[in-house]
Amino acid sequence: MNSFFDDTETRSSVERETSHSRKLSHMVELGYEYSERVRDIFDTLGLKPADVCSVTDLEKLPVISREQVIDFELHNLPFGGFCRADADIDRIFTSPGPVYEPHLTEKDPLWRRGYSAAGFGKGDIVLNTFSYHMVAAGLTFHEGLRAVGATVVPSGTSSTEIQVQLINHLKVTGYTGTPSFLMAIITKAEEMGYDVEKDFTIQKASFVAEPLQPSLRNKFEKEYGIDTYQMYGATEVGDIAYECSEKSGWHICEEVIVEIVDPASGKSVEPGQLGEVVVTRLNDIFFLFRFGTGDLSSLTGEACPCGRTSYKMNGIAGRVGDAVKVRGLFIAPSQLNTIKEHFNKINYQLVITREKYRDYVTAIIETGKDEHQLAERFDKHFQRICTVKIDNIELVAPGSISDGDKLIIDKRSWE
Ligand SMILES: [Zn+2]
Repeated sequence: MNSFFDDTETRSSVERETSHSRKLSHMVELGYEYSERVRDIFDTLGLKPADVCSVTDLEKLPVISREQVIDFELHNLPFGGFCRADADIDRIFTSPGPVYEPHLTEKDPLWRRGYSAAGFGKGDIVLNTFSYHMVAAGLTFHEGLRAVGATVVPSGTSSTEIQVQLINHLKVTGYTGTPSFLMAIITKAEEMGYDVEKDFTIQKASFVAEPLQPSLRNKFEKEYGIDTYQMYGATEVGDIAYECSEKSGWHICEEVIVEIVDPASGKSVEPGQLGEVVVTRLNDIFFLFRFGTGDLSSLTGEACPCGRTSYKMNGIAGRVGDAVKVRGLFIAPSQLNTIKEHFNKINYQLVITREKYRDYVTAIIETGKDEHQLAERFDKHFQRICTVKIDNIELVAPGSISDGDKLIIDKRSWE
């Protein structure tokens, strides 16, 4: 399915970068003129607007975390000095923190690319199970769905029983919400005596705000015949990326600049390497440059068979604080779980040590016999997933690593 939302999704990378740099430059100029926060950041660093006029110039600015946004806002209510004071704001959202967000103008195609790529459109009746109260979710997903032509049932956080009734009475064809809530609805329907695959008309689901575990995706698709898609975003910057029908990575939205950076330096890491997802949304009312999501991901520039030309993010590998950094590269718990699944839930453990200022990675793997081949395959697969090379592999007898043991043990001392 090649349901592009517009031509920008298939433009060349040179065209994209030129357009992004031009829009960024405009946003910097406006920000410097209308946002006291931006002016303060630039003046403190001795920068002029002309110093940040391309995507690569962004690294001159600091990454701003969610905690910092909250702090700025609490000291300068409601928008921390990031917002243009004379902006015609449609509504103000809030989320825990509290974070206050001005809703972007209608010009911004929030969430539309994701729904379009997932095949939502005219003729669809979609259950929107996100809250419409206070937070941005319900209303912005609603508008994204409407913009691609779908009819929305604003069921919000109603009980699973009500959701089942709505699906049944209204012949709902699509779902948007979290994967766990869809599973809860299906479980309730089964308790109520429905044969979900036969009785339900839901053909597709677009998930956001919660990771979709491969086993759950498989269940939705194989057992219940529901085609599943993921979208990714953050309250502060709106939608960031979405899955296409290839379901191998998330295309970056055309309205955002995504950098994957080393959280310690704020500088971009190489494509394929894990780093923090840092987002700048190109717009002319809320001047938040380089928002640090705290999420870990990596980029791939490989051409996607769907025809979209944007870089793709390789899902979310976890939170920055949960990952371990080895020889300058992150290893996230989710990557280690992917490897475990690949080798049929093999029991293994990584031990990180440090000798003479160099990190060493030892993999301890449980196996029945001395399987040299397994060690070789493990070594290769590990490097492909984590981009870090193992120094040592120890094969041990089954039962040597107890189930409850951690997948990664960091023995380095930093004194
Ligand atoms: Zn694609």
